[in-house]
Amino acid sequence: MIDCDILIAGSGIAGLTAALTAVRVGRSTMVLTGATLGGQLLSINKIDGYPGFPDGVPGYDLCPIAQEQATAAGAVLKMTDLVDLEYGDGTWRGRLGDGSAIEAHAVIVATGARLKKLGVPGEEQLFGKGVSHCASCDAPLLKGRTVVVVGGGDSALQEALTLAEQVTRVVVVHRGTAPTAQKAYRDAVAAQSRIELRGESTVAEILGDASVTGVRLADGMEIAAAGVFVYVGLEPNGALTPASVRDNAGAILTDASMRTTLLGLAAAGAARAGWPGRAAAAAGEGAAAAIAIDRWLCDKHWREA
Ligand SMILES: Cc1cc2nc3c(=O)[nH]c(=O)nc-3n(C[C@H](O)[C@H](O)[C@H](O)COP(=O)(O)OP(=O)(O)OC[C@H]3O[C@@H](n4cnc5c(N)ncnc54)[C@H](O)[C@@H]3O)c2cc1C
Repeated sequence: MIDCDILIAGSGIAGLTAALTAVRVGRSTMVLTGATLGGQLLSINKIDGYPGFPDGVPGYDLCPIAQEQATAAGAVLKMTDLVDLEYGDGTWRGRLGDGSAIEAHAVIVATGARLKKLGVPGEEQLFGKGVSHCASCDAPLLKGRTVVVVGGGDSALQEALTLAEQVTRVVVVHRGTAPTAQKAYRDAVAAQSRIELRGESTVAEILGDASVTGVRLADGMEIAAAGVFVYVGLEPNGALTPASVRDNAGAILTDASMRTTLLGLAAAGAARAGWPGRAAAAAGEGAAAAIAIDRWLCDKHWREA
């Protein structure tokens, strides 16, 4: 028995915007939130470049508003994961993390991405003991200390700036001759005396026993530090979808309307191949996916495979 028109996996900004759009065009919609209601943005101190917020907005403010807007419009949230997805006889069937099952006419996968690990000795053992992916969560615990940020992209420099508000010294270790982050972040970092850039360097080991005491770089140099924050790229959470609609990196392949080649299956946001990397784009893709699914439910015309 069909439980909803559209099942959405993921409650980041892509999933919540898809849900809002879907219910506003009259589709019964269920969102499986996954572990993080709000997604990656939830722990960002200041989301930059999101329309409507010229001074930035904290994720812990924006995400609950987006959630409230979607549920007030009629979306139903279920606090569990989608663990398996299959299609047959015109119906998508999902198996959920709480042991239940669900049937829907169509599915939007908005399961986002996870931060990559460095894959060096010490990282696994010291995760949560100084190794972190969340600057805003851990900066208050590191007041007066030195920390290392690994990576030179937008996330790395943005989080280095967040850390520099609280810690004494931030050493940004990155591979290239200059960080690849957007100019606004490079300029802000240049103006922040607590941040040092260490280019053409990689971390070979994270040091410490009960907690982080520093890092050893590939050239043998050691930096004493109480925290190590790793921002070296993202890995898409696309594994729920059939391999036929994923690229080599595991991201979901869609057309410009967010449709996969499988009938009634769309994707949006950081789980999607070609996602431009910003929250505004993820929100837009969520809306586009919901509209594409709604049109298909009306006219039953899907893309050519
Ligand atoms: C450190 C950092 C700083 C950033 N700063 C900015 C910024 O300032 N401005 C900006 O525009 N962008 C920024 N971004 C990018 C921004 O976070 C992403 O654009 C945005 O979060 C993508 O949204 P999403 O909904 O696609 O995915 P996500 O935010 O990754 O959300 C994915 C959702 O899927 C859920 N999920 C995962 N697996 C399952 C499953 N099996 N079943 C059900 N649900 C599942 C998760 O619980 C989560 O709710 C930043 C990213 C990082 C890492």
